[in-house]
Amino acid sequence: MRLTDSVALIGSGDARLTDPLDCNVYAIQAQEGPILIDTGGGGDTESLLENARRTFGDPAGVLITHAHADHSQGGPDLQNRGIPVVAPDPSVPLLTEGTETELGITAAKRDDVYPNDYEYTHYTPDRTATPESTIDVGGRRLDVAQIRGHASDHVAYLTDVDGLTACFIGDAVYPDGSISLLNTPGSSLADYRADIENLVGRGIDALFTGHGLPRLRDGQDSIDQAADALAGMYTPSSKT
Ligand SMILES: [Zn+2]
Repeated sequence: MRLTDSVALIGSGDARLTDPLDCNVYAIQAQEGPILIDTGGGGDTESLLENARRTFGDPAGVLITHAHADHSQGGPDLQNRGIPVVAPDPSVPLLTEGTETELGITAAKRDDVYPNDYEYTHYTPDRTATPESTIDVGGRRLDVAQIRGHASDHVAYLTDVDGLTACFIGDAVYPDGSISLLNTPGSSLADYRADIENLVGRGIDALFTGHGLPRLRDGQDSIDQAADALAGMYTPSSKT
């Protein structure tokens, strides 16, 4: 479903648009075909692609925000269909050989977020994106902002669409200013404190979140709220 002229939501477990284990998956129009943000969990890649084709056509590539299974495990299916996967540099060791504990899966199984027989499929991305640089995918330029804290490899992608500064924030910050700190390896409040500045002063309009509802206007307010909470004495409000 289209959220702006050039951005569509093509996968979401929360909305039951696709597999329940899928994060929000977005398609952004680009010169060579839409590019996707995150792959979903890999349980329903065909519906994901159908939704992409129906809105903007065959995808030219996919960028992942971090290696957690619900954001990355559609990767092998997409690669098999000829769609290149771009991952942040620090995601590569996790994608290729991360243990269940490093990937947060041990904890997710313990809490029944994933079934006990769930297996993470390791794979090698086709390209990597360097945090705090810019990248061109499918003819669209995106800024790669390092925003660790939810996960050690987490980035956000910023790009201009339809006159808006759009930020694909993954699981880092939610519209109400909450962060997503996990009790798993790789999640760190100190990393959040260090990196939130990378998103301050960016004039973000649309904040496209990895779960729940995105925010199409005044997204910078959500970031600024998180930054303010991270500067304070108490643990900021956090959700999963
Ligand atoms: Zn995550």
